[in-house]
Amino acid sequence: MKKISLRFLQTHSNMASVIDELVPELLGEEYKNIGDKMPYSLFVEAVEQVPIAISITDKKAKILYVNEEFSRVTGYQPEDILGQNESVLSDKRTPRDVYHNLWHTISSKKIWRGTLCNRHKFGHRYLSDLTIAPMLNEAGAITHYIGMHRDITNYYESEQKVINQKLLIESVINSSPFAMVVLDDQDRVVLDNHNYKALVSDLDKGEPATYFLRLLREEMGDAWTELQKKEQGFNHREFKIESKGGQRARWFSCAGNWFVENEVNVDAFFENIPKQYLILTLTDISRQRRQMDELHIQALKIMMSEDERVRSLRETLLGAMHQIHMPMNQIRAAEQILRHKRDDQHSGLLQILQEIQQCGEDAVATMQKCIPEILQAAVIPINLNQILHEVLLLSNQRIWSNGIDVHWQPLADLPTMLGSENRLRILFKQLLDNAIEAISESNSLEKQIKITTSSDMDLICVSIDDSGPGIPLEKRAKVFEPFYTTRPMGGNQAGMGLVMAREIVNQHQGLIEIDQNYQHGCRFKISFPVRRQPQKGLG
Ligand code: FAD
Repeated sequence: MKKISLRFLQTHSNMASVIDELVPELLGEEYKNIGDKMPYSLFVEAVEQVPIAISITDKKAKILYVNEEFSRVTGYQPEDILGQNESVLSDKRTPRDVYHNLWHTISSKKIWRGTLCNRHKFGHRYLSDLTIAPMLNEAGAITHYIGMHRDITNYYESEQKVINQKLLIESVINSSPFAMVVLDDQDRVVLDNHNYKALVSDLDKGEPATYFLRLLREEMGDAWTELQKKEQGFNHREFKIESKGGQRARWFSCAGNWFVENEVNVDAFFENIPKQYLILTLTDISRQRRQMDELHIQALKIMMSEDERVRSLRETLLGAMHQIHMPMNQIRAAEQILRHKRDDQHSGLLQILQEIQQCGEDAVATMQKCIPEILQAAVIPINLNQILHEVLLLSNQRIWSNGIDVHWQPLADLPTMLGSENRLRILFKQLLDNAIEAISESNSLEKQIKITTSSDMDLICVSIDDSGPGIPLEKRAKVFEPFYTTRPMGGNQAGMGLVMAREIVNQHQGLIEIDQNYQHGCRFKISFPVRRQPQKGLG
């Protein structure tokens, strides 16, 4: 007799017939005569010792055979379970549908694979990763089923822990008030949160991460590569994003941190392959920036009103001196005529005239002394977009109360120029105030101011167009003359605004002119030389 395991003998009265019947089915027709080369018992031992729980049942799932691993996994020894239905293993938590599908599959002579919730002999539950294969006889009819299962409770729990951790990370990231994105070493987005997703449509810049990475790399230059190499983060990198369609510009503060993870693909199974990721955090700081802007504008208002006070005092005194000069010249002429006559008859009058003249000169000298000085301002690199933006904010109230539409069209990458911030603010405030004034005085229904910045290799140009009545051709040259005004005199209309504007433009080596071809109102064109970057190595 062939060598047959004791366990098998214990459980089967007619073992030889079971072996004769099962082994060819288990091993296939081609192995039917394998006993000539290898004993069947070897196969029996193999099934017995294989580290997967194996059971063989009849067509109704009555258990005929179990191997050692089955006993280890289920807790049932052969004597406990042989002759019973596999359903003793069922925890009854597995939905009926699953069993239905299981039986439908195997009774259709197909292999079923799935997961069931089983109950161990000692009462605890475990998850069974089960494969059931039908065994067919030569006529193709099902004779038995073979079940193979593993306890995958630990795998499942670990997998669930990973899923839960991922969900936790995602919910932490999603609850963050900042836009967060994780990028791989190819700048591909591997994880992002709701706030980041919102930016994709809000910013209209394609993939926001790609856009900010470009800005960061440009701004940080070599420092980017250095930080990346050392896996050191960065913080507080602030960028202004001009929005389309007249929406307000937005400000973002960027922070980043690199981290390394091991690759999870098969290539990295025997060898750790580190892969670097970047967590990029984008914080919308527009509100804070706007508050800062407002404070800045308040400070500018105070500074400019002080400047205005000084300027109007200067203009008043200069105006008064200018007004005095005319009668003084007449008195001087009369005094000279009388002096040439040399008759005693007019000596009293001559003396009075001389005294008046002296008083007049003293008054002019006193006024001259009272003219307040305008302090020299520091010359620094200036972005005119910023100055014009501030001037628009300064005049916001007047623009709004006059119902004027402002079309602000700044050139995105406007080069800088060298100049005095405050003087340039005064210049553009003057031009903008003139434009508002002109529009508010005109009856035109169209109330529009357009401010555009542009540039070529050498010049930075600003154009300020208004839809007011314009300046008649014959008066265009005169408006730059002192004390000339197209409006009634009085108040602060001393007719010095454009004189001062031209003075400021001249101080900046610029040019101001009225566009001769502009027909829809008035267009002032102002241009300044582009600031040349100092060359390295030159003193
Ligand atoms: P049951 O009344 O036994 O069956 C539920 C549904 O299954 C029925 O509504 C019916 O549609 C279908 N069904 C049952 N028996 C048959 C049949 N003979 N032919 C056609 N359809 C049928 N179950 C486990 O819970 N854990 C296991 O580890 C497990 N291993 C198995 C291994 C093998 C080899 C086989 C063949 C079955 C195995 N089963 C296992 C299924 C088990 O036999 C039961 O069907 C299941 O446990 C449900 O038991 P129940 O008493 O709740 O319902």
